[in-house]
Amino acid sequence: MAFGPKGCSLKHQIEVYHNLAQGKAVIDYSFHGVIQHVNKDILNELEEIINYGIPSFKFYLTYGYKVENDEALAVLKKLKELGGITTVHCENHEIINYLREDYLAKGLVAPIYHSKSRPEEAEGEAVNRMINVAAVAENAPLYIVHLSTALGLQYIKSAKERGQDNIFAETCPQYLVLDEEQYKLPNNGGLKFIMSPPLREKNNKEALWKGIKDGDIQVIATDHCPFNFNKEKQLGKDDFTKCPNGAPGVETRIGIIFSEGVSKKRISLNKFVEITSTNPAKLFGLYPKKGTIAVGSDGDLVIFDPYKKVTITKDMLHENVDYTPYEGIKLVGYPEIIMARGEIIARNNEFIGQKGYGKFIKRNKIELI
Ligand SMILES: [Zn+2]
Repeated sequence: MAFGPKGCSLKHQIEVYHNLAQGKAVIDYSFHGVIQHVNKDILNELEEIINYGIPSFKFYLTYGYKVENDEALAVLKKLKELGGITTVHCENHEIINYLREDYLAKGLVAPIYHSKSRPEEAEGEAVNRMINVAAVAENAPLYIVHLSTALGLQYIKSAKERGQDNIFAETCPQYLVLDEEQYKLPNNGGLKFIMSPPLREKNNKEALWKGIKDGDIQVIATDHCPFNFNKEKQLGKDDFTKCPNGAPGVETRIGIIFSEGVSKKRISLNKFVEITSTNPAKLFGLYPKKGTIAVGSDGDLVIFDPYKKVTITKDMLHENVDYTPYEGIKLVGYPEIIMARGEIIARNNEFIGQKGYGKFIKRNKIELI
């Protein structure tokens, strides 16, 4: 997510991110453009960025850089025209602001009020709003990131029933295996789970699994955004609104989804490959270089032991952060060998790849699925 300082051009942001990755990445990578404000210059820049190899952009309906409905409409229309895809963080800004202030005024500052101040309806409303804006934008492709609620999913389903295709949704492991109870852990343990959207009530989890099975959710990603529990997260110890939002999850995604999805028979092995690899490769313009095993495609392979038993702990992981939200979770099935472009980069949980091996991938225009 190529964020930049307020008011900067998309090109500037991407240059900065190139510098951050240069010589360091161990696997291939790309960037999503982040649209933090909308004006003529930004809209005119989109074509050049897409032609350069970045066809996906994210904007937010909340936070200080939130995009308004008319701006969203302009971006959706333009990206459709250019063969790009609009991805949106869907939460209703005003509902959240009102509730945050209300809880703060009442002295309700514990981590659980993070989720209470970002209710399911705040996501549902924003999802439904964007679906309608995308319909007005001549059925522009819309990709809803980190969907966390059954309510949002219902709006997606009902739009599809009305015949609006080109709506795609992503969820993440945290919304499939964790829930709101985590915010009540002792010693402010709930701060570890402060992310947006927040963890939800239990009943949402099976609804999201069903959405995956039925094909209404096409991708499981991570929203990986770590902060140390003993450092940055402690900013929220007396006030949840001061806690940085985000949690780690990039290393645990594949193992958790295999175990909770395939081993527990919620989804088929084919569906697992589709939602973790093939679908995102197609939607984000990487297919068939990535996302398939075929002559001419990159040899990016994960070889699993489907019966291996693993208990997730912070110590077994390589993420650069002092905790994992999945501590103690027991998995059946875990990756044994990981290959990037034909080279083995990890074996039996040991990283043996090389810094700088990863290349920036120029992506194509998107392929609707
Ligand atoms: Zn987001």
